[in-house]
Amino acid sequence: MATAQHYDVIIVGTGAGGGTLAYALAQANKRVLLLERGAFLPRERENWDPHAVNVENRYKAKETWYYGDEAFKPSIHYWVGGNTKLFGAALFRLREADFGKIRHAGGVSPAWPLGYDVFEPYYTRAEHLFSAHGLRGSDPTEPPASGPYPFAPLPHEPRVQRLADDLEQMGLHPFPLPIGVRFGENPGRPQAPVILSLFDGYPDPTKTKADAEVCTVEPALATGNVTLLTERLVERLETDAAGRRVVAVHARHGDAYETYRADIVAVACGAANSAALLLRSANDKHSDGLANSSGLVGCNYMCHQNATFLAISKEPNDAIFQKTLALSDFYGPTADEELPMGLIQMLGKTTAEDLRFESPQPLDGMTYDEMARHSLDFWLQSEDLPDPNNRVTLNQQGNIVLHYTKNNVEAHERLTNKLKSMLSAIGCHEHMIPVDYYLGTQFPFNLAHQAGTMKFGADPQTSVLDLNCKAHDLDNLYVVDASFFPSVGAVNPSLTIIANALRIGDHLLERMR
Ligand SMILES: Cc1cc2nc3c(=O)[nH]c(=O)nc-3n(C[C@H](O)[C@H](O)[C@H](O)COP(=O)(O)OP(=O)(O)OC[C@H]3O[C@@H](n4cnc5c(N)ncnc54)[C@H](O)[C@@H]3O)c2cc1C
Repeated sequence: MATAQHYDVIIVGTGAGGGTLAYALAQANKRVLLLERGAFLPRERENWDPHAVNVENRYKAKETWYYGDEAFKPSIHYWVGGNTKLFGAALFRLREADFGKIRHAGGVSPAWPLGYDVFEPYYTRAEHLFSAHGLRGSDPTEPPASGPYPFAPLPHEPRVQRLADDLEQMGLHPFPLPIGVRFGENPGRPQAPVILSLFDGYPDPTKTKADAEVCTVEPALATGNVTLLTERLVERLETDAAGRRVVAVHARHGDAYETYRADIVAVACGAANSAALLLRSANDKHSDGLANSSGLVGCNYMCHQNATFLAISKEPNDAIFQKTLALSDFYGPTADEELPMGLIQMLGKTTAEDLRFESPQPLDGMTYDEMARHSLDFWLQSEDLPDPNNRVTLNQQGNIVLHYTKNNVEAHERLTNKLKSMLSAIGCHEHMIPVDYYLGTQFPFNLAHQAGTMKFGADPQTSVLDLNCKAHDLDNLYVVDASFFPSVGAVNPSLTIIANALRIGDHLLERMR
């Protein structure tokens, strides 16, 4: 089926990047078609059921990818709102230094082709769009900002406040973790911790979590300028005979095939799927995949060195929502350490159900219920470096194959050892228990923070996208998700994806004038 309707812009994917671009264009009365392979995530009892979410993987993609020859189920989410439907909504800006070249234990993190100053106004808009709660001036490595956070930080519950006090006693600078929740002016309202108890890694049926569906897709649809078609899997982009313009977007809807057309096409399927879509769209003029004259489509996959650890507090941790604290003292070079390590932040609290499923070694005869009651849950994140051999390719059946070898591991090991060395001083037993249920992968990479498969830059030989995230090789194809990152820093990526989508939105509005 081919539709007669012609749009200004077709956006493929409704996650952090695609949803935000739709929002930006819809506000300016552009006719936008949003094509999303997923459906609306149902608001149902299972949204807050740890067994359904973490054991049955109810909301994860039902697909098979490959790591080399080994098949696996990717831990990602195909819904309106993309991965943000289950994200933790930690909304960090990259540090100013992340835009420059940084020397790491494992190599060099390259400079971005644009500086932090270009992104700053968009970060501010992104924080407003996603209702960020935080406290300017409290994070010792935060970059300069043109205004305060739109909302005050969420208060610590007592055990987390004690953790903050202990860290300060050690001369460190814990700060309120910036987080996107739609509490408006009243972050301390009594029901807040209850709504947030199963928030990080879970869908939120109350729509309090600032995800891409509620913050961008819903308001975009409300303008009347956007058509959203769900359960449309875009399989191929077709170009004109010269190979310079995308002229058709081919999608599958159940067993039916549909074709859509627009002046401009923006791909925002997430870093792995966007690269896969361009590789699948190879044709006579683009024999190695669309926009791939550099040979770099799919290359430089990054995902952070991430790890989740439970520390077992000597006193119970009754916090319902503990994801209110972060620590960036070890982020960049410090007085003691010449090389960066990364960011430590709190995570949503583990449940006994998660532990039964994961079955880590119980601590000193404790039951899983006791361990869950006493856990302080930490998320440790260090930068991984772009490597062209870490990449997405397709096998002969057209399935995604990931090639990834960990790098810069030393930074992550040093960060882990830092936390270990503090356990006693923060009132915990001397064990850090690694758990995997949050990331859901047995492989050396994770998919949650995937980025970098089509880096942006000024030179068509060394980058896939230009400075406006338009493919160098085509006149009307943009990529507006995490693919464009030339390096990934060590902060969570979404705020940067959102800020960049707002930036590209401004560029497209200028182009369409
Ligand atoms: C459990 C979890 C916790 C996280 N916590 C945080 C956090 O606290 N802070 C943070 O910054 N980040 C977090 N992240 C990461 C964050 O969710 C992602 O970085 C972000 O959503 C990526 O945005 P994106 O636009 O690149 O892709 P996505 O948000 O993944 O959106 C891609 C969209 O494209 C659709 N799609 C894919 N292929 C096709 C196709 N061929 N045709 C049509 N549609 C398609 C998908 O269904 C999806 O809707 C977390 C992720 C997970 C999984």
